[in-house]
Amino acid sequence: MPRRASVVGAGILGLSTARALAADGFSVTVHEQHAVGTPLGGSPGPSRLYRTSYGEADYVRLGRMAIEEWKRLDDPRLLVPTGLLEVGAGQTTLNAEALAACGEPFDWLDPAQATRRFPEARLREPALYTPDAGAVRADLALERLRRGLDVREGERIGDPRELEADVVCVCAGGWLSRFFDLPLRVQLEQVAYVAAADDLRPSCIDHGGGIVPGVYYALTTPGVGYKVAEDDGQPAPFDPDRPDRPVDAAGLDRLRSWLAATFPGLNGPLIRSESCLYTMTPDRDFILDTIDGIVVLGGDSGHAFKFGPLLGRLAADLAQDRPLPPQCARFRIERFARG
Ligand SMILES: Cc1cc2nc3c(=O)[nH]c(=O)nc-3n(C[C@H](O)[C@H](O)[C@H](O)COP(=O)(O)OP(=O)(O)OC[C@H]3O[C@@H](n4cnc5c(N)ncnc54)[C@H](O)[C@@H]3O)c2cc1C
Repeated sequence: MPRRASVVGAGILGLSTARALAADGFSVTVHEQHAVGTPLGGSPGPSRLYRTSYGEADYVRLGRMAIEEWKRLDDPRLLVPTGLLEVGAGQTTLNAEALAACGEPFDWLDPAQATRRFPEARLREPALYTPDAGAVRADLALERLRRGLDVREGERIGDPRELEADVVCVCAGGWLSRFFDLPLRVQLEQVAYVAAADDLRPSCIDHGGGIVPGVYYALTTPGVGYKVAEDDGQPAPFDPDRPDRPVDAAGLDRLRSWLAATFPGLNGPLIRSESCLYTMTPDRDFILDTIDGIVVLGGDSGHAFKFGPLLGRLAADLAQDRPLPPQCARFRIERFARG
């Protein structure tokens, strides 16, 4: 008789956890209050940026592990490896140091070299270039992960402690602090798309310090255009139970200004815009731990999609008391008590 597992939430983290538990022989049920890919959560839309380039070796290593876990899904459509260009003096130096410490490939491109890779771009300073990066086809990824799983859509769980299963994992995104007392702030973040000449343009991150204040990122979205967005541009708390996900006009204006300054060759109108939820922890590290014997995975802080299948694998391992990589120590909840 297979052991039973219940997973709350069918976003990228819940589906990834369920897939890993099913692979380990559990009979898995996924409970989702809305539907897979709901526009009300954190995982909707056609694309997400993936990368190994981070300012800390822990994340560089996790980024490498994550790419390998994506490849295990055995669907070549999911990753679009366009490479990544980064500017923003302070952060790019930190990222290069962390990449070097982990033996990851990277290069520095002067603005002319960067323009040869991205003709529509005009970068203001030397760019850090990493080849192992690009776009994840997010909607295809959710469909691939849910394949073969028992996903109960429209089923809202009141208390996961009442679920009768050998293993319970809660991956409830912006609703996580409805179940557990955790220092999370839910906020609404938005993206827009502009028509692009080519689906293989590199992803780009601007860590700030340019003429348009803020941190911005961009990536290809095959079949739609080039996606542009500001990171952490709307820190005001947002109630995830609100039925709407408005787009902020001032935010779109900032995006247009950044586009004009950074990609003068991509000067068409914004063809689409949408918003979804970030669930922020105070340190922007994720949460992967147990509370009352329940595995808790969340606190995505706007950057967990790329790590989805890996974090799901690790949550399934945690549920079975298997050891986790040392990098996961930073995801423990006790850190909040330490302030
Ligand atoms: C605009 C934007 C851009 C982003 N860009 C990137 C990027 O480029 N790269 C990257 O790596 N990450 C990116 N992210 C972050 C990434 O999308 C999120 O980290 C990730 O999708 C979070 O997944 P999740 O499974 O934790 O949450 P969700 O997808 O929100 O899933 C949680 C699910 O739990 C369900 N649920 C909650 N409570 C209950 C209940 N009581 N009963 C049943 N079901 C319940 C919800 O309905 C929801 O479907 C971005 C996020 C946003 C918003």
